Amino acid sequence: MNLGLSDDQEMLLHGVREFAQGEIAPRARAMDAEAQIPAEIIDQMRELGLFGAQVPEAYGGLGLDTVTYAAIIEELARACAGISILLSVHSSVAAHPLMLFGNEEQRRRFLPHMAAGEIGAFCLSEPESGSDAASLKTSARRDGDDYVLNGTKVFVSGGSLASFYLLMARTDPQARPLHRGISAFLVERETAGLILGRKEEKMGLRASDTMEIFLEDCRVPVANRIGEEGVGFKIAMKSLDSGRIGVGAQAVGIAQAALQEALAYAKVRQQFGHPLVHFQAIQSKLAEMSTRLEGSRLLVRHAAWLKDQGRPFTRQAAMAKLNASEVATWVTHQALQIHGGYGYMKEYAVERYYRDARVTEIYEGTSEMQRLVIARCLLRGE
Ligand SMILES: Cc1cc2nc3c(=O)[nH]c(=O)nc-3n(C[C@H](O)[C@H](O)[C@H](O)COP(=O)(O)OP(=O)(O)OC[C@H]3O[C@@H](n4cnc5c(N)ncnc54)[C@H](O)[C@@H]3O)c2cc1C
Repeated sequence: MNLGLSDDQEMLLHGVREFAQGEIAPRARAMDAEAQIPAEIIDQMRELGLFGAQVPEAYGGLGLDTVTYAAIIEELARACAGISILLSVHSSVAAHPLMLFGNEEQRRRFLPHMAAGEIGAFCLSEPESGSDAASLKTSARRDGDDYVLNGTKVFVSGGSLASFYLLMARTDPQARPLHRGISAFLVERETAGLILGRKEEKMGLRASDTMEIFLEDCRVPVANRIGEEGVGFKIAMKSLDSGRIGVGAQAVGIAQAALQEALAYAKVRQQFGHPLVHFQAIQSKLAEMSTRLEGSRLLVRHAAWLKDQGRPFTRQAAMAKLNASEVATWVTHQALQIHGGYGYMKEYAVERYYRDARVTEIYEGTSEMQRLVIARCLLRGE
């Protein structure tokens, strides 16, 4: 197993880092305050080809491996967590499932658009169905060459910017167990009956929009069903395996930014006649932050590497996401503490990192759900 990056990977990442630190980071505070990503930043991401990072070259993408992709997400998250999740959702749980489960006609129809930067979103969660995703209620009734969709989706990341929604709906209300009755659809933005609801006001990750979406007699052609009827839950779960590598990388990026800020601050802030780094209690915090962070990066990279090898990675992706998200919460907490009262002020970036990190323990499966996934894999002997 080689977890190092090649010269080509390093060169590509260097470009992404320059873009992230030069263009995104200086505007991250404003994006947080205004709760949106400026259109020109998204255009620049398009020009760099980032929306096609993992889309194969045959469909207009860069065809990058998962290790490189995860490192890109980490770089973006260091600058702005909201931007990193836009790309992570688009890549891992909207475009990637099309590659895995779409037919050739669907891949040719949608992937070049997605690679060019028409954004994809993921619609699984509903008002009464979160961790228990198999209980979702949105219905998809077959009517000739269409399905007619009715229901409500919540917490859709990138929902207001998206052109495509990978959406799970129930095609067979009688099917038992419940997950066998779910199918996946690629719903295009302009489809009549797809209505954007309110944008949520959030604690963190504010640059990323989180939308409610209503489906009211929304007619989706059978040609837009991804996979067979009844395999939608499997598609969602497989997509989330990949998504968790992205969320893990995001958490690592946020924690990395927080550690750097804390280190820089501790070098200049003086108390008792010395900079904070002089005190062993502060050194000890910094050492532990760095150690936990490095461990979480390795778990993310290992899961990405396994995926690139075509080997099973469900347990490793869940472990990477669980660990990286809890480490990010802890590291950002310590970084704020090292800043003392100033860390509590909006003027300092650690305040934002602290808020942004929290959601990584919640979305794409809560920490409790990751532990269930890991335990189930262990019990199955995987
Ligand atoms: C900012 C943000 C963006 C999001 N983006 C998307 C998106 O793009 N697409 C999408 O589909 N969803 C999205 N989500 C939804 C997210 O995936 C859900 O919030 C998450 O899966 C948890 O579901 P819930 O909020 O309904 O919590 P619940 O499922 O109600 O859980 C509440 C608590 O109970 C615990 N719990 C539940 N069941 C069990 C159990 N069996 N054992 C132990 N503990 C349990 C949970 O871990 C949690 O702590 C987003 C959420 C947020 C906050």
